[in-house]
Amino acid sequence: MVNVEMKYSFKTCKICDSSIRTLKEKTVDGLTLAKCNNCNLLFVKDIPVSKLWAVDDKEKTNNYYSHVATDKSKFVYALEQICKLLPDLDGQDYSKYKILDIGCGDGVFLSMCKDLGFSVYGVELRKSCVDLCHDNGIENVFRKDISEIDEQFDIVTLFDVAEHLEELPPFFMLINKLLKRNGFVYIETPKQSVLDLYIKLLSYFTSIKNNRVSREHVQLFSIDSLKKLLSKTSFMPLKTISKCSLSWKDKKKYIRNLGVKSELLVSLLDAISKVFISLGILGNNKAIIIAMPQPNEEQNGL
Ligand SMILES: [Zn+2]
Repeated sequence: MVNVEMKYSFKTCKICDSSIRTLKEKTVDGLTLAKCNNCNLLFVKDIPVSKLWAVDDKEKTNNYYSHVATDKSKFVYALEQICKLLPDLDGQDYSKYKILDIGCGDGVFLSMCKDLGFSVYGVELRKSCVDLCHDNGIENVFRKDISEIDEQFDIVTLFDVAEHLEELPPFFMLINKLLKRNGFVYIETPKQSVLDLYIKLLSYFTSIKNNRVSREHVQLFSIDSLKKLLSKTSFMPLKTISKCSLSWKDKKKYIRNLGVKSELLVSLLDAISKVFISLGILGNNKAIIIAMPQPNEEQNGL
């Protein structure tokens, strides 16, 4: 990466400040990887100045939300978990709860919350997503940095957002400020699992590239690193769940995206992956963590 201006160059772990080791393995887009010796966070060590990821492409957004991100099962699961943490309500009236979904995409999760009666708010920087939210009946979408939001919420959610954040503790401190003292944050993000070893093993046999960390997904958490991040930003974890989001279906597309060119090999790996998934061997590739602000923390003392 000579002659490329870097936005961040981490010398220690971006969560716990411990020593890191630089890995020989690179990201799929050629960036240097580092791993923390203490909390095991795997992350992009030098993040280049690049605005590519922030380009708002209306066609791409519409295609993504109508063809790629169509599995809503994680939202159903999340809503169940969230409702379990709320006191039993007469007639299930959730209207007194304000929920903020950071990176709310097309607003489908918020529209499910709205159907239950929640007061719903979203954060989305891309105009094409804000338009989709409006189409889905979500009016309150902040198109600004969360540091500029001057309201407080009972619940804040982040679905597949944490892995994109270039700076971690500062962002989570802001989330802490956005929450009412008895509120909580619900985070779902990819985590390290046997899947990473599987991909590494495959890379010895074929031209496969590890795409779990890249310019877009700048870190891959471990449960330990998530807990350290929350504790550092004055949160108290309430619940930690490890989940497998790999399904039986459509593995061929996933395998092709890893860079496998031969269709014969794609079919073979698809069959092997299905067996591994059915046996639970590829492990839980997603982490869900629910946490509340530490009760003794002063609101403005962060
Ligand atoms: Zn660390």
